[in-house]
Amino acid sequence: MNKDVSRRHVLLVGSALILTACGNRGQNSAHSGGMYYVVQIGDTLSYLHRRSGLAVETIVAANDLSSAHLRPGTKLFLPGVSQLHEDALAARLDVVSEPQQVDAVPETAANDVSDHENIAAPLAGGYALVPRSAWTSRAVGGNNNPMGGVQRITLHHTGEHAGMGGLPDVEVIRRIESYHRNERHWAAIGYHYIVGRDAKIYEGRPAKYQGAHVSSKNANNLGVSVIGDFQERLPSPRQLAALSAFLDDSRSKYHVGRGGVFGHRELNKSICPGDALFGWLKHYRSA
Ligand SMILES: [Zn+2]
Repeated sequence: MNKDVSRRHVLLVGSALILTACGNRGQNSAHSGGMYYVVQIGDTLSYLHRRSGLAVETIVAANDLSSAHLRPGTKLFLPGVSQLHEDALAARLDVVSEPQQVDAVPETAANDVSDHENIAAPLAGGYALVPRSAWTSRAVGGNNNPMGGVQRITLHHTGEHAGMGGLPDVEVIRRIESYHRNERHWAAIGYHYIVGRDAKIYEGRPAKYQGAHVSSKNANNLGVSVIGDFQERLPSPRQLAALSAFLDDSRSKYHVGRGGVFGHRELNKSICPGDALFGWLKHYRSA
């Protein structure tokens, strides 16, 4: 089952920008001498180069582009291309394509005070909570939406990040935030909480903001991601105990029942949070 599912996953994730970003299925149409591609939020020329195999200069020339900055919604012609390669980076990571509304909240320090500013990482139920301010000084961007209350929780894994295995958890989180901000143009890391391998739980995007972790289903949805790839194996007992205690505490805080905790794969086409961790989640829900 793994092989089949993961192959499908790769294809689906690889096409996620086309299929889910704006519901514009069909606009990316093949053409006898090439294909058309509608630029999505976060696309860059180097990204299209990787996926089409065309040189950046070829894409620029074929579309008479005067700027290297791609505007979302622009229809580009990709000469000689019948199909885009899978998004190799997206296939490795837990990537969702999220068309974020921009109901701009002014970006000020006062807006960005998190729930946990004054918590000095006490142990509560088997984990230590680390505030966002402990790993970044950067404010959440203005392109966010208010959460307006939590009604469900969605569990993710981060996936295997090439070359990140030896990095401390904080550095992994910084890199995910950097990817989500710089490549995806999101307000901050997409997840609200990240469960580290060290049994610390890191605040990502403050929970008063909607996350960007489940395409089109981020409203009132708390995103919790576990560092690692849990398709084949479970997190360590320590990491799993921290996750379990944190889910208990979050459900209690937001009045969410056990059945209100979902795996990403139940809401989008994704293998996230992996077969092994999803199996654990089903067990957690029925406990
Ligand atoms: Zn996910």
